[in-house]
Amino acid sequence: MFRSRRYRYDNEGVVLAITVLLVGAVIVLTSTFTFCVSGIFIIGMFVLSAVMIRSHHKGLMRQAVLVNELQTPALDEVVDECQLKLQPGPVDVYLVEKNQMNAYTFGIETPKVLVLYSPLLKVMSPGELKFIIGHEMGHVALGHTWLNTIIGGMAGIPAPFGASVILYAAFRWWSRMCEFSADRAGLLACGNLNLAVSALVKLVAPEVRSQRDFDQAMAAIDREDDDVSNRLAEVFQSHPMLIRRINQLRQYAATQEYQNLQKGVNANLGQSMDTANASQPPSVVTIRLTESEPKEQIPPEERWPWLKPLDQTDNQQDED
Ligand SMILES: [Zn+2]
Repeated sequence: MFRSRRYRYDNEGVVLAITVLLVGAVIVLTSTFTFCVSGIFIIGMFVLSAVMIRSHHKGLMRQAVLVNELQTPALDEVVDECQLKLQPGPVDVYLVEKNQMNAYTFGIETPKVLVLYSPLLKVMSPGELKFIIGHEMGHVALGHTWLNTIIGGMAGIPAPFGASVILYAAFRWWSRMCEFSADRAGLLACGNLNLAVSALVKLVAPEVRSQRDFDQAMAAIDREDDDVSNRLAEVFQSHPMLIRRINQLRQYAATQEYQNLQKGVNANLGQSMDTANASQPPSVVTIRLTESEPKEQIPPEERWPWLKPLDQTDNQQDED
C-alpha cells in the first residue's frame, strides 16, 4: 500500500511551532500579570485595612471608655486577670455604649484593640465575662487580628469562574476554625466549662434568667444543626453554629491537654496548680461590675448540672 505525507505544505510546521510558542508566551505573560496584579491587590487591601483600622481606633479613643483602673476598676480587674492568664501582649480594651451583645478585636500594630459592648456587662456574670474577654484575647494571642487582615485581602482577589466563591468559603472556613481556638482561650481564661457555655448561650439569649429559660434557649441552639439549610449557610459564615462551639468546648475540657494548659495559666495568677480549684474564682468571685449584675451567685454547675463534663469520676476542672 502506498503511504506518504510529503504533500504537507512547507510552512505548516513552522507556523505550528510559532503558534505553540505564542500560546506559551501568552500563558506566561498573563499569569505574570495576574500574579503581579494579585500582589498589588493584596498589598493595596492591606494598606486600606490598616488605614481603616487606625481611623476606627482613633474613633474609639474619642467616643468609647478606655477600660482602666480609674474609670472602670471592676472590669479592669477582670481584664487584668485574663491578660495575666493568657499573656496576649499589649491590648487596649474599650467599652462601647451600644444596644447589642457583641465583642470583637482588631489590630495590626501594637497595642491590639478589644471592644466590649455595654450590654455584655449587664447580662454576663464576671466569670462569663472572663470567657468573652479571654476569647477575644485568644484571637490576639494567636495572631488572628493581623492574619484576618491579610487572609481577608487574599480571599478578596477578583477571580474568574466562581473561584471567588471558593476563596471566600475557604476564608470563612478558616475564620470558623479561629473561633474554636479562641473559645479554648476563653475557657482557659474563665476556667470553667459551665461559665463558658452559659456565656455562649447568653450571647444569643441574653434574657435567660432561670433554668427554664436556659433549657429553652439550649433546646433552640441544639435544633440549629438539624436543619440542612443552616448547615449549608454555615459554609459562608464567620462563626460556627453555637451547638458546634459548645460541643467542641465540652470535648476539649475533657482532654489532658486542656488540664495541663489550665494549670499553666492558673499558675500565672499564682493560683493553685490543682485544676479542681479552677472553677472557684469565677463562680464565687465577688466583683460587682454594674448594679444590674445578676444577683444570683449559685455556681452555674449547680444550676445546670447536666452541663458538667461527661466523665464525672475524674478530677474535672469545673468541679468544686
Ligand atoms: Zn471570635
